[in-house]
Order: sequence, then structure tokens, then C-alpha cells
Amino acid sequence: MASRISARRAQGRPMRKLKVAVIDLIGNGENRSLYGYVMFANSASIMPQVVATLCESEGHAVNFIVYTGREDLAREVGTEADVVFISAFTTAAALAYAISAWCRSNGAITILGGPHARSYPEDACRYFDYVFGFTDRETLVDVLRANERQRPLGRYVTAPGQPQSLPGVRERWKFVEKTLQKAPWIKVVPMIGSMGCPYSCSFCIDANVPYQTLPFDVIEEDLRFLLTKFAKPLVAWHDPNFGIKFDQYMGLIERAAPRGAINFIAETSLSILTEPHLRRMRDNGIVALLPGIESWYDLGGKSRVGRTTGTEKLERISEHVNLIQSYVPYLQTNFVIGMDNDQGAEPFELTKRFVDLCPAAFPGYSLLTSYGSAAPLNLEYQEAGRILPFPFPLLNNNLAMNVRPRHYGWVEFYDRLIDVVGHTFSPRAIYRRFASATQRETRWLNLVRGLSQEGRGRLRHHRRVRELLVSDRAFRDYFEGESTVLPQFYVDLIKRSLGSWYERLPEGALWHDHLAYSKRERTEARGELVPKIPAVIQAPILWRDARGVAP
Ligand code: SF4
Repeated sequence: MASRISARRAQGRPMRKLKVAVIDLIGNGENRSLYGYVMFANSASIMPQVVATLCESEGHAVNFIVYTGREDLAREVGTEADVVFISAFTTAAALAYAISAWCRSNGAITILGGPHARSYPEDACRYFDYVFGFTDRETLVDVLRANERQRPLGRYVTAPGQPQSLPGVRERWKFVEKTLQKAPWIKVVPMIGSMGCPYSCSFCIDANVPYQTLPFDVIEEDLRFLLTKFAKPLVAWHDPNFGIKFDQYMGLIERAAPRGAINFIAETSLSILTEPHLRRMRDNGIVALLPGIESWYDLGGKSRVGRTTGTEKLERISEHVNLIQSYVPYLQTNFVIGMDNDQGAEPFELTKRFVDLCPAAFPGYSLLTSYGSAAPLNLEYQEAGRILPFPFPLLNNNLAMNVRPRHYGWVEFYDRLIDVVGHTFSPRAIYRRFASATQRETRWLNLVRGLSQEGRGRLRHHRRVRELLVSDRAFRDYFEGESTVLPQFYVDLIKRSLGSWYERLPEGALWHDHLAYSKRERTEARGELVPKIPAVIQAPILWRDARGVAP
């Protein structure tokens, strides 16, 4: 179903100046939390800024909107736009659908980009004129030049791969600045130096994207530019796996700025964090790292522990993490909970032990979540009938787990999850994380995160889910795949999160075909063309919304 707009046809048309609204959906609904106020603008994506920059360079008038959950989005978007581009993660997809429906009713053509577009293209085509896979200048220009509605079903458009270059910070500064105006204290500039990843963790959207770097001379120039804008810039690298070309990266930082003049945050693999590398990172201002541990029984390659698993892996990783912490002030260690290799109590007990052994590290937990066709493993889950149709707003790695665990019943799973999360965010562990941090800022950050929705808040949520699993038969049936009617508990969560946009949801927008990926693969395997109209899907009623509407 992927296509480019016919280049010849599009190029034949004169490009008229369009009013383009570009929306970066950071929030997935109304949000007035303190954490959202302080940090959401610092989580802005790079691609919406890139799209806005490219549109302007093509002569269009751009209205760039960053939605953190506090804005009056309808007022900011307005009714005048010819084209509305929305970038969204899956958890914000329902909001994106509602905005798209409203903008289309006002006469705009709508385009969806971002992770949701790549993960659920069939579904997104039901609500957008265009759904973008890989996005480069040519893809964007083709669509703007064609400027055609695609209804009732939208068109999936993709470049052959990730772009070879992107506008740097200097070029997109206007949009970076507008975003950072919403960040009251800490201001984080998003940058990227590479795409894809040489590793292939089967649950990851970047597993099948070839690793490539972006032009390093532009990055070097951008770092110098930032020194003219901030006394001490703070940069977050959006590379899926920072530092693969380690010497080149460090070299460009060393050339661009005096030692320690810029601070950096990066997501990276433990395998990169050798002691000589850590020394150089410290000298070059790396102040926060987010390495993935993921599992005690899998993915040893990227942690430099090879086939070592279980207790031995725990011991080696804990030692390594404490070494990292002696060079880098802030560390978040990421885990995926519920992976197929996990069995019994041991994985959870090992994680608790890790919390004790590495008191300064902040553990980031994600429940195993399958995002449509984002990752190769998802096909296996769909074929095995293990995917549950939780609506998109719940798919944020914590509110719901849409893969049935391989080796646990749901009650046992939630018991163990509550145990490990409770241990991690117990008053004792929160205090130890606070006291072990070496800097004042990181100490308070640990405390706020531990007490907020991310820590104690999640514990309350998991406890409530566990209660309902044992007390509410219909709730349990949904988890067991015996019912497709979403429990009221989740309906209420979604309503609260969408706020006034709930009423603007198009019919069926909270339902999706959770098996679309395997259906697409089977169609292709039979050598048949994937239907041009991809979203004609036969499915049982999975969702009834407040108006009793089912697709
Ligand atoms: S190392 Fe990280 S970015 Fe690379 S495939 Fe694994 S999870 Fe994805």
C-alpha cells in the first residue's frame, strides 16, 4: 500500500502558497500536572520542527503548534489551515484522529507522521488524507504539490528510507525557540546525529532500520550556534542509540565547544559505556544517560554480557551501572517487564536486587507493549493470538499491557509487577535514590519522579488493575480475550485524558484492528496486492463508546 505521489503529475502543478499547521502532540490529552508543565516541552520531537522548516522553505505559511496538554488546541489551530500535519505517538493517536476530523470538517487536508503512522498505517488511513512512513523533503513536497483530498480512506506515503540529512538546529531554530518558550526552567534542545541502530532488539521500532549517521559538520556547526543562544546549553540527543560512532561523536563535540561548555543527555547501550568512553563522556559534558538493560534473560549483546543471564548478569550489570554513575550524574536504566523469557519470581526478584545494589539509578519500567507493525516481534504475537485490543490512549507502556504474558497468568503477573514497582518506589528506595545522587538537581529530580505519576502513581494504578482482575468478572474476561467490551475503568481513563476532544472523536476511533499487521503479511505472502483501501476490516465489536457507537 506504500506509494509516492506520482512525481510527474505532482511536479506538473504550480505550487500555491498554502497555510500549513504543524502540530507536535507531546501531550495525549488535557494535562495540568506539574511534571507536564516543567518537562513536556522538553520532550518535543524533531520531525515536526523539520516538517515546519521544510514547508517554510517551500514558501508556505506555517503555524507551528506544540501541544503539551495545557493549550486551547482548537483556538491555536484555527479554521483557516489548508493543510494540517500532526505528529503523534500511538498513545496520542485518538487525540490526533479527533483533531484531524475537526480540521477536515473545516476544509483542511490532514497528514499524520510520527511513530503511530509507522505502526498502524491501516488504521490511520481511516482518519487522515495522508499517512507518512519515512518522511523526506520529496515526500512532503509531492503531497503539498498534489494538494488532493484522499477520502474516504487516506493514502500511505513513504520515502524509501530515512532521510540522509535533516535541517539542523540553526535552520529550525524558530521552531525550537517557540517550543522552549513553554519550558519554564529546564530548557532541553533536541538534536539528532544518527538514525536506526546496529542492534536488532525484536521489540524495537528501530530494529529493522539500518544505522546511518547524519552529516557531522552540520551538527558541529549547530553546537557552536547553541553557544550563542544559551550560557550553558542542554542538548538531548534523539539518536535511537547514541555514540555508536563514538570517536567521531566525541571529536565533533570537542571541536565545537570548550570542555564542559554544553551538557548532554543521551539514550545509549551499555556496550558503549566502557570506562575510557565514560571518562571522555564526562569530560565532554554528558550529564544524563538512559541505557537499556531490558531483561535479565535476553539481549545480552547490547549490555556487553554476551550469553550471561540471571544472577550473573545482575552482578555484572550492577557493577557496571555503579561505575557509570561515578562518571555521569544522572542515570535511568530501562527495563521491559513481561518479556517472553521471563518465568516465575526470579526476574522480578533480580530487578528488586538491582534497585538495592544501584540505589542512585532511576529504573524506568515499560510493560511489554506491541505497537502494530512497528517491530518484527509483533507479527509473532499477532499470529499467536496474544494481542489484546486495548485502545490507543492506553498504550503508553504503563496503563495497559496489550500482550498476554507467556509464562504468567494476569493476577500473578500484576502481583509480581506491584511487588517490584512497590519496592522501587518504597519510601526507603526513594530516600536512597535522593541521598545517593551526587548533584542537587538530580537529587530533586529523583524525588519528584518517584513521588509523581511515574513512580507512586503507577503503583496505585497497578494495584487498582489487580483488584479489578479478581473482583470484576467482565474486567478479567477482557484480559483473557473472552470479551471485547472495554471495561468501564479504562473508558473513564480515556474520557478523562481526552477531555473535550472526546466528544469530537470520529465514530469508531477508539477501535482498531489489532491483527492488521498479520493480515497484511498474509496478503503479501499470497502474492496478492495489499488492498489499495486497506482499512476494510472484518472484526467483532471491540469497543462501544459512550454514544453506543461501534464500528
Ligand atoms: S539497542 Fe535500543 S535502539 Fe537499538 S534496537 Fe535495541 S532497543 Fe532499539
